[in-house]
Amino acid sequence: MYTYDPKSLKAEEFINHEEIMQTLEFAEQNKHNAELIDSILEKAKLRKGLSHRDAAVLLDCDIPEKNEEIYALAEQIKKDFYGNRIVMFAPLYLSNYCVNGCLYCPYHAKNKHICRKKLTQDEIRQEVIALQDMGHKRLAIEAGEDPVNNPIEYILECIQTIYSIKHKNGAIRRVNVNIAATTVENYRKLKEAGIGTYILFQETYHKESYERLHPTGPKHNYAYHTEAMDRAMEGGIDDVGIGALFGLELYRYEFAGLLMHAEHLEAVHGVGPHTISVPRVRRADDIDPDEFDNGISDDQFAKIVACLRIAVPYTGMIVSTRESQKSRERVLHLGISQISGGSRTSVGGYAEPEPEKENSAQFDVSDTRTLDEVVNWLMRLGYIPSFCTACYREGRTGARFMSLCKAGQIQNCCHPNALMTLKEYLEDYASPDTKKIGEELIARELNNIPKEKVRKIAEEYINNIKDGQRDFRF
Ligand code: SF4
Ligand code: SF4
Repeated sequence: MYTYDPKSLKAEEFINHEEIMQTLEFAEQNKHNAELIDSILEKAKLRKGLSHRDAAVLLDCDIPEKNEEIYALAEQIKKDFYGNRIVMFAPLYLSNYCVNGCLYCPYHAKNKHICRKKLTQDEIRQEVIALQDMGHKRLAIEAGEDPVNNPIEYILECIQTIYSIKHKNGAIRRVNVNIAATTVENYRKLKEAGIGTYILFQETYHKESYERLHPTGPKHNYAYHTEAMDRAMEGGIDDVGIGALFGLELYRYEFAGLLMHAEHLEAVHGVGPHTISVPRVRRADDIDPDEFDNGISDDQFAKIVACLRIAVPYTGMIVSTRESQKSRERVLHLGISQISGGSRTSVGGYAEPEPEKENSAQFDVSDTRTLDEVVNWLMRLGYIPSFCTACYREGRTGARFMSLCKAGQIQNCCHPNALMTLKEYLEDYASPDTKKIGEELIARELNNIPKEKVRKIAEEYINNIKDGQRDFRF
């Protein structure tokens, strides 16, 4: 007997090791069970998601025809829920001071040769202006854990600075925050500062491995880290983003852990995670990804994305520039809804490229293209790059967002918002070639807005944007 309870507030009960082991065993035993796989696929077609057990069976399934069905269903769900839109964002590293000892990250405290940096408010201004000049509207801020160098007051000041900068037609309209697990009180302060999503990756859900990979620092505490989203929600943050760093532990284990975490948040707070990220371990300053035994192939990566898409249709899914152009292209249609573009993973580096001898990057970027190149590429593949931040600004977060999603209503906002924000991008930042492709795409895609009234309003707003007005949204 073991205690597995999605409603429990104890990490080891809602991410229960025995439950995961039994889930993996069940999946292994049933990976050729066509009848069971068919019944799970039937359930999945209702688009209400799947339990971690059912999803684990699909992940393990090794019947080629059934796998084709899994990929086709993921693609269909992606189309139904997210259309052909991809939301764009960029990370902004504020500080790489860190007291933790994470073995997979070059910011770990024992790394004495990496260049340590912390942006001043003036430097943040320069970075944000450079990001606005690229066309970004949505940022994810990142900082190491260091109560002396990066206290919560510093993070709050940075958020205030970022929102205050209005340069030409630019504005950062949504700041997502990726900082270490903290207290309910600090989460409340972040909420009051107007953050979008609070993002915290679990790294690994496997407790023993977690403790080994985090030998020193406050992050060593598995329960405190795993229960962070509950404290964030208690502090009033209702959009949270979870993720696991694939490569540290067995991917099947992380997959089950991610879904159990999502089930727990839904069971306790009535709303699951807003996003799931699927980073893979990357090479960095003193980090060699080959030292970790559990690296996953591109095929396994694609299968994880497809099965997550089916299991949690309402949850956005993110891939960063850790992935190459090729690997991003492979998973976009299987379920990814957000990508970063033109990213720098160093502290600073947008306003001026970082000198080589001052390497402060958290990982080596695989996709090094500019934002304009990424936007151009997405449109050539038939996607609409979207700079939309409307929901957060309209207060459509947490349960309100989910209920609109579940009623199928959110789509009436996303599509026109994507076209209007793309139009802003084309007017203000795009290269001539990107602008040409974009104008054609907008003209085409306006016809795909089903409601005539909405289409007429969107057309009018797009004309207004051409005439110099900005910031329209549904
Ligand atoms: S992963 Fe985060 S907490 Fe760990 S060393 Fe890197 S910056 Fe610090
Ligand atoms: S309308 Fe809301 S859900 Fe749709 S793209 Fe914009 S912010 Fe995202």
